[in-house]
Amino acid sequence: MADETTGTPVSGTILVVGGGISGITTALEAAEVGYEVIIVEKNPYLGGRVAQLNKYFPKLCPPTCGLEINFQRIKNNDKVKFFTFTEVEKISGGPGNYEVALKENPRYVNSNCTCCGKCSEACDVEIPNEFNFGLDKRKAAYLPFDMAFPQRYVLDQSIIGKPAAQKCKDACEYNAIELDMMPKNFNLKVSSIVWATGWNPYNANKIDNLSFGWVKNVITNMMMERLAAPNGPTKGKILRPSDGKEVNNIAFVQCAGSRDENHLQFCSYICCLASLKQTTYIRESNTKSKATIFYIDLRTPGRYEKFYRKVKADANVSFIKGKVAKIDEDANTRDVIVTAEDTISGKKIQQRFDMVVLATGMEPSTATSKIPGNAQYDENSFVISGDILSAGCVKKPSDVMLSGQSATATALKAIQTLVRR
Ligand SMILES: Cc1cc2nc3c(=O)[nH]c(=O)nc-3n(C[C@H](O)[C@H](O)[C@H](O)COP(=O)(O)OP(=O)(O)OC[C@H]3O[C@@H](n4cnc5c(N)ncnc54)[C@H](O)[C@@H]3O)c2cc1C
Ligand code: SF4
Ligand code: SF4
Repeated sequence: MADETTGTPVSGTILVVGGGISGITTALEAAEVGYEVIIVEKNPYLGGRVAQLNKYFPKLCPPTCGLEINFQRIKNNDKVKFFTFTEVEKISGGPGNYEVALKENPRYVNSNCTCCGKCSEACDVEIPNEFNFGLDKRKAAYLPFDMAFPQRYVLDQSIIGKPAAQKCKDACEYNAIELDMMPKNFNLKVSSIVWATGWNPYNANKIDNLSFGWVKNVITNMMMERLAAPNGPTKGKILRPSDGKEVNNIAFVQCAGSRDENHLQFCSYICCLASLKQTTYIRESNTKSKATIFYIDLRTPGRYEKFYRKVKADANVSFIKGKVAKIDEDANTRDVIVTAEDTISGKKIQQRFDMVVLATGMEPSTATSKIPGNAQYDENSFVISGDILSAGCVKKPSDVMLSGQSATATALKAIQTLVRR
């Protein structure tokens, strides 16, 4: 049914699953032209992987600015509702008439929370910090990161029922901690569904020859984002994990798991740019540092070629065309030894570095967690937009700009589903 004055439908809601940049953009694009949207996010905060990045290529600005603008747009628009810590359990029906069963997990903290941090101070349990990929620990009463939206603490499930949880509750002066919060099941009727659940870093433990997991100074590119971030585990100092030594000589190993028939068969699109960007992190933080990129092909599509040329002009950044055959550790110094074949000279080379970053690719979240309804996937588990629409990295590997374009296009598709009814 349409509103006679505006011509827009007065009934029908769009459900967006995934509150990363793609889901947020889809939701805002649809809401700002008058449609009701609900975002469902499994984490206790919105923003997705972008919240974990230190800077955006190519402008090298902090992603928190862009996220903050979007959070304000959500706050100011009563057509957008969102649920965090929530997942879809079942989808039935079809376009125009979906019934969706959801489960909201308890965060044990209610809307009275002022983010005073007293519960965290009182908490004596620390657990590995997943936001920083285990590079440090966090308290079991925590704010996921400084700019988290919504700004509300969380109590980790692992302390519920233990004295530590009671200590946190006793420290809260605002009656914000509810230790008896239970998971909540509820249903929604929606007209259109957009899947925007993004990507996960490919599990580097699976790439045997690159030694992630047993050589401590081999890290992934997402860990590098956190190491370089001012709100990260080392407050932005790029220090190697084994001994906290300043990194002077770093290597990047491209296509770590991507374009490989034993791992991800596709090009992950962003990891060449991510490594080029990360050379600027190290070069800016330590002017004496040197960086070497081992690559098969360098992919810098469109306007990104300019960014590549800028990095290439730095004499302290070297490029070696060659596939890395193996990575070892010097047990005495904990240095990392990279063996590769230089394709141009045809020679086998061996070089020593303080730290090595694996440019691991993006695996669609649907590789490990399928949509609980009728959906189609390509051979790599990316979601093909059908009755259930898809946007961003769950559809194909993308940077933020492409994710934004994909999200805007998908918002239009979702609106068409409503209008066609
Ligand atoms: C090392 C590295 C550096 C990068 N640097 C840049 C850069 O500088 N510039 C740039 O443009 N791009 C960069 N990117 C790419 C950028 O991270 C992606 O383009 C962006 O994250 C895509 O956003 P998205 O919303 O599609 O996915 P995501 O960011 O993955 O968001 C998906 C959201 O869905 C949620 N979710 C997952 N499953 C479910 C579920 N079942 N139910 C509910 N919610 C769910 C997740 O928790 C998450 O919040 C980089 C990527 C890497 C690997
Ligand atoms: S839960 Fe209570 S103690 Fe913890 S940050 Fe919120 S208001 Fe402060
Ligand atoms: S973007 Fe670069 S590093 Fe990533 S898979 Fe493609 S070619 Fe390899």
